[in-house]
Amino acid sequence: MKNVRIILIGPPGGGKGTQAKLLQDKYGIVQLSTGDILRAAVKAGTAVGLEAKAVMEIGQLVSDDIVIRIIADRIKESDCLNGFILDGFPRTVAQAEALDDLLTVQKLILNRVIEVHVPDEILIQRITGRFACALCGVGYHDVFQRPRREGTCDSCGSSEFIRRKDDNKETVQLRLQTYRAQTTPLFPYYEGRGLLQVIDGTMSVKNVAQQLEKVLAT
Ligand code: AMP
Repeated sequence: MKNVRIILIGPPGGGKGTQAKLLQDKYGIVQLSTGDILRAAVKAGTAVGLEAKAVMEIGQLVSDDIVIRIIADRIKESDCLNGFILDGFPRTVAQAEALDDLLTVQKLILNRVIEVHVPDEILIQRITGRFACALCGVGYHDVFQRPRREGTCDSCGSSEFIRRKDDNKETVQLRLQTYRAQTTPLFPYYEGRGLLQVIDGTMSVKNVAQQLEKVLAT
């Protein structure tokens, strides 16, 4: 797969990030996650990070201006020349319109918009149980995917793990509300242009990856 530009849309905990990483590893198309970029900015204490931190902690959206600027700068970098997978952007119709403008200026085409569909009950269980290796970032889950050796990362052997601050039950409810109110209007936006396809995100990681590949192959 070369030179493709894909948007993955889905609720928090829907598995977009996991699938975007798999596509990145398999095809070398870079994953652009605004959530990851913002968390890195918060950690580094940059001006953007300072502005985003409080909003992220209460499950609301960072301003369109900030995330649009992040993506506008990021897609100009050389590793995006072979295409990219947008994970967590756009999240509002204003962001989608800004993305259209950015792509038009660069004479680039959006190939696919894929909704990873997962109902709320499943999301809450998934999100509140997830954690990751602090060193290499590999993801785990309290119920569904514990490390093979308790307390030790399967991938790098580290014994340090982290949980996202916004992965608690209260914030998850707010993130889901935000998703329904602000992000689901993107479905008619892209459906009207014949770009939207839906996959079932309740299945295993492997199964969802297979569905995704099938959609991308058509
Ligand atoms: P995520 O890792 O995609 O779940 O994003 C975590 C948090 O970062 C969200 O709850 C928002 O506060 C913020 N965020 C990430 N992407 C965006 C975006 N495209 N627009 C606004 N806020 C975002």
